[in-house]
Amino acid sequence: MNKLTIALFLISGVAFSQSKLRSDIDQRAAEIEDKVIEWRRDIHQNPELGNQEFRTAKKIADHLRSLGIEVTEEVAVTGVVGVLRGGKPGPTVALRADMDALPVTERVDLPFKSTVTTTYNGQETGVMHACGHDTHVAILMGVAEILAGMKKDLAGNVKFLFQPAEEGINEPGVDSWGAKQMVEEGVMEDVDAVFGLHIGSQMEVGKIGYRSGPALAGVDELEITVHGTQAHGASPWSGVDPIVTSAQIINGLQTIIARNVNITEAPAIVTVGAIHGGIRHNIIPEKVDMIGTIRTFGDDQQALVHKRITEIATHIAESAGAKADVKIRKMYPSTINDPALTEMMGPTILAAAGDGNVLTNPLITGAEDFSFYQREKPGLFISLGGMKKGGDPTKTPSHHTPDFYIDESGFILGLRVMSYFVVDYMGMN
Ligand SMILES: [Zn+2]
Ligand SMILES: [Zn+2]
Repeated sequence: MNKLTIALFLISGVAFSQSKLRSDIDQRAAEIEDKVIEWRRDIHQNPELGNQEFRTAKKIADHLRSLGIEVTEEVAVTGVVGVLRGGKPGPTVALRADMDALPVTERVDLPFKSTVTTTYNGQETGVMHACGHDTHVAILMGVAEILAGMKKDLAGNVKFLFQPAEEGINEPGVDSWGAKQMVEEGVMEDVDAVFGLHIGSQMEVGKIGYRSGPALAGVDELEITVHGTQAHGASPWSGVDPIVTSAQIINGLQTIIARNVNITEAPAIVTVGAIHGGIRHNIIPEKVDMIGTIRTFGDDQQALVHKRITEIATHIAESAGAKADVKIRKMYPSTINDPALTEMMGPTILAAAGDGNVLTNPLITGAEDFSFYQREKPGLFISLGGMKKGGDPTKTPSHHTPDFYIDESGFILGLRVMSYFVVDYMGMN
């Protein structure tokens, strides 16, 4: 064989073995689709809030063990990590699913509707998988079964990350997100690349959406206290009014987006969501408290917005003779899809979803703690369609609402694309 023939032989050899693996995945996915739907319904009917996913975790651990996968439980409180060792040497690919439900009372009329209730922040509430994490768990359990069945053909290891508390734990004295803690406990150390998906109630089944680079916003919490000097409302000149000062600060903060952020690169958001001060119509109070949220795309932009918030609040307060204390609590960083990995996996996504079914996501100002994994190793996070075919996204209930609904016919694409990620990544590395 001359060089060209050898090269062609190698290329077609790789292509042949990849397409064989993909068709094997397709067949296995079709075989277990009904089982995955059953698991999802069971998890949907038994939702558990963050760091309390005991039943869900046990179901996962039992299933992984039954497949011969090495299992570690109680990672980051209730998380489950499974390791599947392939028959050939190669990289370690991590796949992630989040397990937690939300304090939302389900209003959808389903045979497997959740009737679970709890007390949350002192309020009686239902518990519901109103973000679709039940589907993520069921799909990843299915992917584990597909890949375990192909173990001898896998050139590398697969690490299954079932994490708790993606929505975060925001109770007094507790401040945690599942992914952050999973990373702190070392789950990413031996991983080469990480993949995750989120079902979307407003994206049609059969579609996959993603974008390279910053994809979802980073989120931080803002707290500003403006200290003035109390006075009679009829003689404001005898005090320093923190209410007028706060109004100026709120307006000033909006100029960060309008005048400091390079909006041709990425948008940002500063929202003041609550303002408290004063007790009576004729008393100028001593202080005003404001809280809000900050959304940014990337570390540089985040640093700029934080710096400007502090400068504007403190200097406006100073100009009025008041004092502003600014506290910014960093929460999730921006979800940034590694450009090289994203480009490499483009053909894989297209092969799974088919022509006309791959969308470029807009920037999403919501946040995801998947970002913590991506800060450790290259990662790719995609959206998977969960709205029934022909549905109108503007009339379909969004995530975190009591009417949130997912069409189960979208799961099979999730099974296929996540499994493709593993074999294709291994084939290319
Ligand atoms: Zn959510
Ligand atoms: Zn979610």
